Amino acid sequence: MTVTSAVSAARQILTRLHDVMASRSNAQAKLNTVVDVIGEGLDSEVCSIYLLREGQLELFATRGLAQEAVHVTRLGVGEGLVGTIAENIETLNLAEATAHPDFSYRPETGEDKFHSFAGVPIVRRERAVGVLCVQHVDPRRYEEVEIEALQTVAMVLSELIHNADLIDEEEAALGPAQTGPVRLVGLSLVKGLAAGNAVFHQPRITIEHVMAEDRDAELQRVYLAFDKMREQIDRMASQAEFGVGGEHEEVLETYKMFAYDEGWSRRIIEAIDSGLTAEAAIERVQQRTRMRMRQIDDPLLADRMHDLEDLSNRLLRIVSGQMGTAASQGLRSDSILIARNLGPAELLEYDKRRLKGVVLEEGSLTAHVVIVARAMGIPVLGRVRGLKGALRDGDPLLLDADAGTVSLRPNPQMVEAFDARFARNKERQAAYAKLRDVEPFTRDGTRITVMINAGLRDDMPGLSLTGADGVGLFRTEFQFLVSATLPARERQTRLYRDVLDAAGDRPVVFRTVDIGGDKVLPYLRHNDGEQEENPAMGWRALRVALERDGLLKVQARSLLEAAAGRTLNVMFPMVSEPWEFDAAREVFESQRKYLKSLKKKLPEAIRYGAMLEVPALAETLDLLAPRLSFLSIGTNDLTQFLFAADRSNPKLAERYDWLSPAIMRFLRRVLLGVAGHNVDVTVCGEMGGRRLEALALLGIGIRRLSITPASVGPTKELVRKVDLNEISAAMNQWLSSPPPSLREALASWAQERGIDTD
Ligand code: PEP
Ligand code: MG
Repeated sequence: MTVTSAVSAARQILTRLHDVMASRSNAQAKLNTVVDVIGEGLDSEVCSIYLLREGQLELFATRGLAQEAVHVTRLGVGEGLVGTIAENIETLNLAEATAHPDFSYRPETGEDKFHSFAGVPIVRRERAVGVLCVQHVDPRRYEEVEIEALQTVAMVLSELIHNADLIDEEEAALGPAQTGPVRLVGLSLVKGLAAGNAVFHQPRITIEHVMAEDRDAELQRVYLAFDKMREQIDRMASQAEFGVGGEHEEVLETYKMFAYDEGWSRRIIEAIDSGLTAEAAIERVQQRTRMRMRQIDDPLLADRMHDLEDLSNRLLRIVSGQMGTAASQGLRSDSILIARNLGPAELLEYDKRRLKGVVLEEGSLTAHVVIVARAMGIPVLGRVRGLKGALRDGDPLLLDADAGTVSLRPNPQMVEAFDARFARNKERQAAYAKLRDVEPFTRDGTRITVMINAGLRDDMPGLSLTGADGVGLFRTEFQFLVSATLPARERQTRLYRDVLDAAGDRPVVFRTVDIGGDKVLPYLRHNDGEQEENPAMGWRALRVALERDGLLKVQARSLLEAAAGRTLNVMFPMVSEPWEFDAAREVFESQRKYLKSLKKKLPEAIRYGAMLEVPALAETLDLLAPRLSFLSIGTNDLTQFLFAADRSNPKLAERYDWLSPAIMRFLRRVLLGVAGHNVDVTVCGEMGGRRLEALALLGIGIRRLSITPASVGPTKELVRKVDLNEISAAMNQWLSSPPPSLREALASWAQERGIDTD
C-alpha cells in the first residue's frame, strides 16, 4: 500500500467507524463490524480484537480467523504476541510473526497461513484493556501510517469498550503489572519505608471522547489551549529568569521549544482533521512520538521525551479542563505520590492517612516540602531519574528511603526483602519508642535538651509520643500556607492556644511568620507586585513582617492572648542586624501594653529570641546577646547563605556537606560570640536531626537540638552513647587540621565506639 493510499485508508476507516459508533447495534455487533472495516481499510486478511476478561486476553471479534475461536481463544497477559503487546503496552509490527521469540501458536484460530502481524494495545487509564491486531498472508511489515491508523482505531475502541461496559474497568485498573519489576535509585530526603500504589500528583487525563462531532469546534479548542499553554510557559520562563520559578532553566528551555514547535501543533491539527477530538488528537500525536523515541536509545533524548510528555499532559489538562492535582480527587488507598517537584502547600493538601510516601524527580534536603514531609513522617526519595517514564498510575511500589531506592512493580523476592527490612525498621522504631521516657544524658552526665520542630496542630501529639523536651521551633507560617486566605486573629489565637495546651508544661517556641523564599502565599504579594530575582534573599520573613507590621501586630496579639498566664517564647526569623530584632520586639511590647490597657490577661513572662540564619548577625552577636533570652541557629538558611547555594536548587542538593569545616567552625564561633551571656543556643535546622551531624554539633558545644519528631528517638539513643569530652577533643583536632572528609572521620570515630549514626 502506498503512503497516500494508507493515509486515505486511515481517514476512511475513521469515517466509517464514526457511523459504527453512532449505530444502535449492540456492542458485539459493533466489534464485528469494526474488524471488517479495519480489515478492508488496511487490506488485511485478518483483523482481530482481544479484550481483557478475568485477567486474560480473550478473542472478542475477528475477521479472517476461525469464528469458532471467538470467545474461546484466550491468552495470558505476557503470553504470545498479543499478551506481549498488552504487557508492555507496545506496538508490534512484524514481517514474520513466527520469528518473534514470544510467538505462541493457537491451532483453533487457523492463523498458520498468515505471516505478517501488527498489533497495538487498546489502552484505558494507562492500562492495556485489549489488543487490536491485523495479519496478512504476505510477509511484509505494515507502513507507519497504517500502524498509526491502527493506533487511532484502538483509541476509538477504548471508548466503545468503555461505553458498552465490555470489560470490568476495576479489574483492568487493578490488573496485573504491565511491565516487569524495576528498581530505581535516588537521594534519601526523608528516611523511612513505605509500600503503596503510585499516584501521579498531576494525574494523566482520561479521554472520554475520541471521535469529534464538530471538527471546527475541536480546532478552536486546541488553538485556545495552545495559546494558554504558551502563556503559562512564558510566565514560568520569565519567573525562572528572576530565579523564582523553581524549575530548571533547561527544562523550561525545552518546554518553550516544544510549546512553539510548529511540527507538534501541525500534527495535532492533522489528527483533528482526520476526525478526532482535541484530546484524542493530542494523545494520538503523543503516542506516535513515544513510539518513535522508543526506537532511539539515547538518555538525553529520553529526558527531552519526558519534557514533551509533561507538556503534552499540560495541554491535555488545559483542553479538557481537568486542572486539579491528585489531591483534589482524593487518595483511594495507600499511596505513594509521584511528582517532578512539589510545593509545601501542595503536599499539605493530601490526606495524611493515605499518603505513605513521596518520590520526586527533583527535591533537596532542606526544601520546605521535604521539611513538611519529614514532620508528617512521610518518607521521601528525591532526584530519581527516569521515574515518570518507568511508571504507570496505580503501579505497586516499595519505597525504601533508608536505602535510597524505590522498587516498581516488585517481584516476590523484592517484596520479601522489603518486608524483612520493614520489620527491622519497625523493631528499631519500637526500640526508639521505648526511649520516650528516658532522659537524654550523655555518658559523662550532661543533660542534652531534645525538642521537636512543628508547624501544625496535628504535629503536637509528636511531643508526647517522643517524650521530647518541648517545641523548639513552631513554624507559624504553616497555618498561613494551608489557608486560602490570611488567617484571621481569632483563628491564629485558637491555634496557638491549642498548641500550648497540647504542650502542657513543656515550652513552645513560636517563630513569627517566615513567608517568602519557597513558601509562597498567593494572597500576600510583594508591594509592587514584582517578581523577585532572589526570593530566598529577598522580601521574606522579618523583612515582610516589619514592613507589613499589621501582619506582625495581629500575630503578636494572637500569641500574647493565647499565652495568657503562661510563658510566651517568641523568636524572629532572618534577623540580619540587631535593630530588626529590636523593632520586632517593640511590636510585641506595644501590643502587650495595649492589651494591658484593656485589662486583658497577659503572659506571665515573655522570652524573646532570634534566629541566626543570616551570617551577618554572627558578627554582631555580642551586641545583641544582652537582649536575647535565646538564639536558635537555623542551619537550613544559614548554610545556603554561607555556601551561596540555594537550598531548593536540586542541582546543588548534594554539593555541600553540613559536615564541612566551614560550617562547623562558623557554628563554633557563634557559640563563642554568646559565651558569657545568659542565652540558650539551639540548633533547629534539619542537620540537627541527623545523627552524624548531631554528634558533630555536640562536639562543638551545642547542647540543645530542635529536630523533626522522627529523629528524637535515634538522637536520644546517640546522646546516651556519647562522651562529650571525647567528642569535643576529636572535633577540636579535626577543626584545627581538617581531615580530607570530616564526615568519614566522624563516621569511623563513631563506629569504633559502637555508636550507630545511620
Ligand atoms: C532554618 O532555616 O534552618 C530553619 C529552621 O527555618 P526554615 O527551615 O523554616 O527556613
Ligand atoms: Mg530559615
